[in-house]
Amino acid sequence: MTDIDIAQGVEMLPIVNIANQLGVDADNLEQYGKYKAKLPLSLIDETAVKKSKLILVSAISPTPAGEGKTTVSIGLSQALNRINKKTTAVLREPSLGPVFGIKGGATGGGYSQVLPMEDINLHFTGDFSAIEKANNLLAALIDNNLQSKTRSLGIDPRTVEWKRVMDMNDRALRNVVLGLGGTTSGVPRETGFDITAASEVMAILCLATSFSDLKKRLGNIFVGFTYSGDAIYARDLNAEGAMAALLKDAIKPNLAQTIEGTPAIIHGGPFANIAQGTNSILATKMGMSLSDYVVTEAGFGFDLGAEKFIDIKCQYGNLSPDSIVLVATVRALKYHGEMDVKTLTTPDVNALKRGIPNLEKHIENMLKFCKNPVVAINKFPTDSDEEVACILDACERMGVKASAVDIWAKGGQGGLELAQMVVDTCEKNIDKVEPLYDWSWSVEKKIKTVASTFYGASAVDYTAQAKKDLKKIEKLGLSHLPICIAKTQKSLSDNPKLLGRPKDFVVTVRSIEISAGAGFVVPITGSIMRMPGLPATPAAEKIDITDDGSISGLF
Ligand code: ADP
Ligand code: MG
Repeated sequence: MTDIDIAQGVEMLPIVNIANQLGVDADNLEQYGKYKAKLPLSLIDETAVKKSKLILVSAISPTPAGEGKTTVSIGLSQALNRINKKTTAVLREPSLGPVFGIKGGATGGGYSQVLPMEDINLHFTGDFSAIEKANNLLAALIDNNLQSKTRSLGIDPRTVEWKRVMDMNDRALRNVVLGLGGTTSGVPRETGFDITAASEVMAILCLATSFSDLKKRLGNIFVGFTYSGDAIYARDLNAEGAMAALLKDAIKPNLAQTIEGTPAIIHGGPFANIAQGTNSILATKMGMSLSDYVVTEAGFGFDLGAEKFIDIKCQYGNLSPDSIVLVATVRALKYHGEMDVKTLTTPDVNALKRGIPNLEKHIENMLKFCKNPVVAINKFPTDSDEEVACILDACERMGVKASAVDIWAKGGQGGLELAQMVVDTCEKNIDKVEPLYDWSWSVEKKIKTVASTFYGASAVDYTAQAKKDLKKIEKLGLSHLPICIAKTQKSLSDNPKLLGRPKDFVVTVRSIEISAGAGFVVPITGSIMRMPGLPATPAAEKIDITDDGSISGLF
């Protein structure tokens, strides 16, 4: 059975019932049909947030297919509810790009999915559209100012890096020339489109803690320079009020449910390389306000997602995880053991053993943040018992608790042992998780700290461009911002080909971008794709709808 078959075989509960489980009555819900609702920000209660336990789920360096962070997060939240812990899963919203591309949706899998999966994967409550509009409003204001004779800010169009966005994998829009058509149709200039998840507005929405904070961050978006070299921000174009107004509903977290009727809050979806890769602070706080445990996911591997979760999101949101879970799979470890991707489903303990150093490095990284991390081995139908036992042994050698979970095939029932381990560690981990670096350090020192302690690099190199960017950041007074390193997820290093646990490598910073509104700078260590393309056979070709409105072909 496919994920969508399983999802459609489940009778969903009305969203009012899910809200009731969280102590929220229908009056406080903004319903979007029968099975989706927005939760008003007034439900956030900082006292309850302090008491609630936050469980962070991340993974070892993944294969391109994903190792099941979302699936395990959903399964774990179901398992916690089964052992009578009032739990909400708090996750990101999927982007349409991968839905129509290769990877498929992002609503979990098997018996650990969030519902209604068709809606969540396709438009949901329209948040991405609102973000797109807010992003593109700023773009229109910039081009309008370039056109203006009376209110020109003197912006040099060649310095404008703000692009338009669209939630679609559409490589033909990566580079465009706009403003063609003569004097009444704008100033011709070269620009392009990014996918909506890559918009800084997305990163901002996910870090904002209130409407006033949202407006401040939107106003701080760096636009470019004037001909005389002065920095221009979105606030200079008076953009932030209207942009925030467009986000009036998008800022509110969305309530949905899992296959087992566990509450799920799904909100925001920033990229995990150029942005923080995790759901909104407001959604996390909403979940923590309404339940005793929150399970959340940080994108890509632990080196990217979890580091940013703690060094950026937790610091802005005044949050700290009480338990950290690392998802490991037999297939990814065999991949790190240099096994051919096409044969990963064939048992091979030796290949797996060669890949174990990748797991070990991620465990060492977890231990930098907390004393009692937990490893969840996400079991696939093709894994052999011997392979699973081999990972359990490796964890035992490192003195770390591990549980093999069957949450994809069995739902919450397949993760009861993991749930109990997580509850136990939540009681033990009473210390606040400390960030890896101090924001006040220089940008170079911050980069060096993450690269050496977390990735295992021996040194960091800067291109001439990156050195120029460092000066620009200094000049703009933005050196105090945290860093959000854009790096491949395929390797602990910045080279996707170095599998396992690379050693003695140098991380090269090619440029450093500014996300002054989101509130971080982005050291770029490789080529980062902000507008993906569709594959030769797009997943879109299999998606269909029947006369009675039932959708098929989604993963
Ligand atoms: P991530 O969040 O790490 O990217 P997902 O949870 O989205 O990964 O899972 C990626 C894909 O793998 C999904 O299609 C999901 O259905 C599938 N999957 C995850 N766990 C399992 C499992 N244990 N057995 C089989 N398929 C799985
Ligand atoms: Mg995921």
